[in-house]
Amino acid sequence: MNRLEAELDAAIAAVRSASALCAAAQGRLASGDTLTKSDDSPVTVADFAAQAVVCAELVDALGEIAMIGEEDADDLRAASRSALLEGVTDLVRGRRAEATAENVVDWISIGTSADRDASGGRYWTLDPIDGTKGFLRGDQYAVALGLIEDGEVVLGVLGCPNLPNPNGTTGAIFAAVDGQCQAFYGGSTTPIDVHVAAPPSLADARFCESVESGHSDHSQSQQIADLLGITSEPFRIDSQCKYGAVSRGDASIYLRLPTHADYREKIWDHAAGKFVVEQAGGRVTDVTGAPLDFSHGALLSENSGVVATSGAIHDDVIGAVRSVLGV
Ligand code: AMP
Ligand code: MG
Repeated sequence: MNRLEAELDAAIAAVRSASALCAAAQGRLASGDTLTKSDDSPVTVADFAAQAVVCAELVDALGEIAMIGEEDADDLRAASRSALLEGVTDLVRGRRAEATAENVVDWISIGTSADRDASGGRYWTLDPIDGTKGFLRGDQYAVALGLIEDGEVVLGVLGCPNLPNPNGTTGAIFAAVDGQCQAFYGGSTTPIDVHVAAPPSLADARFCESVESGHSDHSQSQQIADLLGITSEPFRIDSQCKYGAVSRGDASIYLRLPTHADYREKIWDHAAGKFVVEQAGGRVTDVTGAPLDFSHGALLSENSGVVATSGAIHDDVIGAVRSVLGV
């Protein structure tokens, strides 16, 4: 039996529930349901509601937990935000009929319960809606939940409610733990084993990257593709769905190339996804080829950018990345 079986079951159930909440909310938000955070990024009532639902379900299943989540209940507490909190509570009630505004704030606050500078210990990390810009555009987004123990990711679950699947259904949940990566397609509870796929040659590799050119440098990725002899168009898709795509062979390279030298990636943007790719047989590093270091709290402070591949091609891809970026 897997040491983390209880955690895995709880994480899959929580991500499934939050994914259903987001799917029901996407396309139905009003203008007052979105606000711009201090870092200039958008957040919606659905981001807060999804964090509340994931936290509530994990606590129900596992007892007390610690978490570094993306959302902060302080953004909802101000008196001027009471309409927003009402909107969040309405969404949460769709999954948990008994929820009150007070419950909702308490659940969201679990997302700030772990030390954001922690160098060790055990905590979850959550991006309740990764790719909020994609979510608002009506495109792809992900509910991303990882578990970190002493600086190592040990479990990752990714909910991708809009992802089209090879079997014709829509919506995937990827679940990775201890050498195994499985997916659940179209709401099914029957898992399918997931593996990366090696391209016949580097030139045949398909690469994916952010839709948002502010999140990853598109002109440098084109130069890297040219250097590797890749002629197919990039697969642009929001959120950690990119990791899901690499994990099951829809693409064999994911490039995330810094647009600012001082930008540091957030752990909730990568923990679940990188673990999914690795347990499916792939490799994930930063742009220099160094492992992602999850032992510095909320930020990947020792890393720059991300490169994920199907594995065997990784060193060649990193060679091209280093040469174009000059790192
Ligand atoms: P994606 O959908 O892959 O473009 O990634 C969405 C994530 O990009 C969000 O969750 C943000 O945390 C993150 N992000 C915001 N600004 C930047 C930036 N300048 N560079 C890289 N990632 C960013
Ligand atoms: Mg995110």
